[in-house]
Amino acid sequence: SIPTPINQQLYNYEVGSVQRKLLKEACEKLRNSTIDIPCIVGGKEIRTGDIQKQLICSDHNKVLATFHQANTQVLQEAIDNSLEAKLKWETLPFEARASVFLKTAELLNTKYRYEVMAATMLGQGKTVWQAEIDSTAESIDFLRFNPKYAEEIYSQQPPANSPGVWNRVEYRPLEGYVVAISPFNFTAIGANLPSSPALMGNVVLWKPASTAVLSNYIVFKAFREAGLPDGVIQFLPGSGRVIGDFLLDNKNFAGLHFTGSTGVFNGIYKRTADNLVKGLYRGYPRIVGETGGKDFHFLHNSGDVELFVNSTLRASFEYQGQKCSACSRAYVPQSLWPEIKEKLVSGVKQMKMGQSDDFSTFMSAVIDKNSFNNISSYIEHAKTSPDAEIIVGGKCDNSVGWFVEPTIIHCKDPHYKSMEEEIFGPVLSIYVYEDAKFEEALELCDTTSPYALTGSIFSTCKYAINTASHKLRNAAGNFYINDKCTGAVVGQQPFGGARASGTNDKAGSYLNLLRWVSARTIKENW
Ligand code: GLU
Repeated sequence: SIPTPINQQLYNYEVGSVQRKLLKEACEKLRNSTIDIPCIVGGKEIRTGDIQKQLICSDHNKVLATFHQANTQVLQEAIDNSLEAKLKWETLPFEARASVFLKTAELLNTKYRYEVMAATMLGQGKTVWQAEIDSTAESIDFLRFNPKYAEEIYSQQPPANSPGVWNRVEYRPLEGYVVAISPFNFTAIGANLPSSPALMGNVVLWKPASTAVLSNYIVFKAFREAGLPDGVIQFLPGSGRVIGDFLLDNKNFAGLHFTGSTGVFNGIYKRTADNLVKGLYRGYPRIVGETGGKDFHFLHNSGDVELFVNSTLRASFEYQGQKCSACSRAYVPQSLWPEIKEKLVSGVKQMKMGQSDDFSTFMSAVIDKNSFNNISSYIEHAKTSPDAEIIVGGKCDNSVGWFVEPTIIHCKDPHYKSMEEEIFGPVLSIYVYEDAKFEEALELCDTTSPYALTGSIFSTCKYAINTASHKLRNAAGNFYINDKCTGAVVGQQPFGGARASGTNDKAGSYLNLLRWVSARTIKENW
């Protein structure tokens, strides 16, 4: 049976360590080269000549990679080739499929460890620690835990037979292909989105984010080297619109594994619904999506101030606030506000900004120009709004990289736009509530934003925690008590949210894998 997984141990890259040396070398090598990335269909490299660039976000004059965008001809070839590959892949014993992904985990832990980390650091603007918990640890965890969950699913059978009757359930893959669309902010999600449907016997057409194309390409190389047969996962970088539209408008589209913005996901949902009504598809596609968040930290006046401040600084500003799970609004009781304010401001002032491959950096640049412009527009708005006051940060500088200072906005109006809308950057909005109005403030927290991904309550009072857990029961798919709202660990905290945050099909759990099978019940008389 599949080995019982344990979470990948983290390296700390301390001064003088071999790991630090190897990682520095890998970063230097990537900084001094530009890698050319093809589409890969049926194991064949295709260079369409329609080239886009991936830049180093903290040093945007430097081109990290160029990639060839998939055109409709390549996409058609990818569909045809996948459907052919599917015939063999789905009949392989599960153990053979699982072994590919277990082996990929080993390769990411050894041969590709430094390369994929360096690509994540430079290409996606992650510091060494953020890259370690993502491209190494979480990728490996997904690839080790998913086979175990799959094994459990395959072992589930109807509990009862009757005399002369043998009942059983067969866990078939979906009829057609699955499309995986992965985001820039986690290399691990790039590893998970295509591999989990493939593990369950599906073929997958994978469109990685253009701003994460290099790290995702390295993951793809690891899949292939681990024995993934040609055509099971196709690697298709390029325009989301071109690729999405073409792959969705096809009779064989059977499922989508998506992480990205709510707006894009809604567009996809609508397109697939229109296609379904037109009779284009065979069945109801499985649409699985993790989208946005407006995640919260809620402090009760019984809460531990130090814990709240440290957790909030980390959850809001690590990786420049570009996690779907990042804390972007907080509720603080009036009685603790002066102390909290002072500590948050002093914490922010100590944060070191810099190049992502400088090992002493705490915060680097945001992902690209669009993101920089969007985040700056919120900061500019707050500078002149009577409903908001910037208490620290607020500077944006795109001369070398897309740098945005960690910024905290004290919002006088609990419905001020930065309290409600997803910004996806290092901007934290805080509303100060009257201590006696704890329950009303919980109500505000529940109803202020359309999202429901992550959230935390900080309190030492069991009654307050209980009230918050209940009142906020639909406000977060991942709810933390006295901990920050980022950093879900595969195998420990299955991840996902509902409302506008997605379909809540919990990444890193059997619940997600169940979406990639379509069960057939068989009754046999004998
Ligand atoms: N799972 C990650 C966390 O808990 C966030 C993933 C995401 O940003 O989509 O921090």
